[in-house]
Amino acid sequence: MQLFRISTRCYRVLAIETSCDDACVSLIDRYSPNKPPKLIDERKLTLNSKLSGGVVPTDAAIHNRKNISLLVNQILNDNNWNTPNIKPDLICATRGPGMIGSLSGGYQLALGLSIAWQIPIVGVNHMLGHLLISRMNSNGENPNFPFYSLLVSGGHTMFVLSKSLFNHEILVDTIDIAAGDALDKCGRELGITGNMIGKETEIFLNKFKDQWNEKVDIMVKEPMLNQWDRKDILQYSFASFNSQVKNTLKKFYNNEIPNDDKIRARLLFNFQKTIFQHLISKIKLAIEKNSNNINDIKINDFVCSGGVSSNMYLRQMLIDQLKPLGIENFHYPELNLCTDNATMIGWAGIELYENGLTTDLATTVIRKWPITELLKLEGWKKHDI
Ligand code: AMP
Ligand code: ZN
Repeated sequence: MQLFRISTRCYRVLAIETSCDDACVSLIDRYSPNKPPKLIDERKLTLNSKLSGGVVPTDAAIHNRKNISLLVNQILNDNNWNTPNIKPDLICATRGPGMIGSLSGGYQLALGLSIAWQIPIVGVNHMLGHLLISRMNSNGENPNFPFYSLLVSGGHTMFVLSKSLFNHEILVDTIDIAAGDALDKCGRELGITGNMIGKETEIFLNKFKDQWNEKVDIMVKEPMLNQWDRKDILQYSFASFNSQVKNTLKKFYNNEIPNDDKIRARLLFNFQKTIFQHLISKIKLAIEKNSNNINDIKINDFVCSGGVSSNMYLRQMLIDQLKPLGIENFHYPELNLCTDNATMIGWAGIELYENGLTTDLATTVIRKWPITELLKLEGWKKHDI
């Protein structure tokens, strides 16, 4: 049954993202099929986790449920997108992967609005949002398939080869925690506070970068390096960094955080740099194994997305080390589009919609949804394009 039908040429999109600890909403105007869409407005409310030392899932679920309806109502009213003539034509909402309680708040609201307005909904994969957002670019330098992506955030870390919208191969995945999680844990051990420790660490390091104590040169060990019985492993592992920080403080600093900010800065720098180097070492290995082409098409484009991709030092390290391997174009989203946001969900939903897909109303959210199994999840509907 074809319940919904809108023009795939020009339409308005309401996007909702609530997969973790942010309630995010965004309005996008697809005013032309050939030009990048116009981002009309975007809003985000993040759960305050400063005191809890990490995201508590039940708190995140309550936070998202409380705030997402409010944000949707406000953004529609403020932009006059709730009149009989002007309202969204398509809703895109994160369906997974993520925390069930968090996801449900946004997704159920999206289903309700879809019924009330009689408009289609696209249930979007969160990682696809991070992966595709650079293609919404207005500067005309969008990555075209095939391209590589490093998706690096608080919950995920993976290096992906994307051959088409529906065909993604994970070349390197993490066997334990995500890089952002490791940055947050190390920063916290070394006295950095705030809601986003990785970001606070970058700010702290920028303050001290010309004056830190060069003598404090502890060795941080990169995990998964070659050993006699283990060679060229294509996996990430970030769990050991936290224990390395703890061991360093125990061995050299009497189990205490050093008072001297210059010493702290040097320690933080060493840990951050080794975490970034681990990311890049495995990318280099994967690209070399892949001989950097598929079906004789050379891969020139590299996307880095997710919260950690906001880091300027990481961006430069990637350019310095991957250019010699033949990567020519580096795509880094604008800072507001690196961490979780609804605009990336709106854009990924637009790409799916314009390739003929919407999502059935009888669907629910999902905790695990590998990007390699985009179409395997039940609930997709085909529409004419
Ligand atoms: P996300 O999960 O995509 O919302 O991203 C959140 C993660 O990105 C957290 O682990 C943050 O600490 C990390 N992050 C955000 N900004 C930065 C930054 N500038 N440098 C390093 N890590 C960052
Ligand atoms: Zn994310």
